[in-house]
Amino acid sequence: MKLPKTIDIFGKTYSIESMNSDTLHGQCCHDELKIYLDDSLSGNDRIQTLCHECLHAILYRIGAAAEIEDGLEEVIVDSIATWFVETFHVKFRGNLARSQRSRSGGDE
Ligand SMILES: [Zn+2]
Repeated sequence: MKLPKTIDIFGKTYSIESMNSDTLHGQCCHDELKIYLDDSLSGNDRIQTLCHECLHAILYRIGAAAEIEDGLEEVIVDSIATWFVETFHVKFRGNLARSQRSRSGGDE
């Protein structure tokens, strides 16, 4: 699965960018309208992290992010991203396989 370069979220277009991070799998910057994905992610970890960051953007765009505590927001977006990838059997079919990283690392 080739990931898109941009994604529309409730009227705003976020660009999807690469980053190098030892601590984050991804990051959603609402002011910049950018979603960053760690270069070391591959396969389904990359898809799940994109879903995770898109869910942060959705909660921000609908005004819900300001109403919930950060830790709860992380639980919500990570749970829904996991459910989405597992339920719809989203699979990565590219050949970009690199080292697998633990999902226990930090997403923001
Ligand atoms: Zn997060």
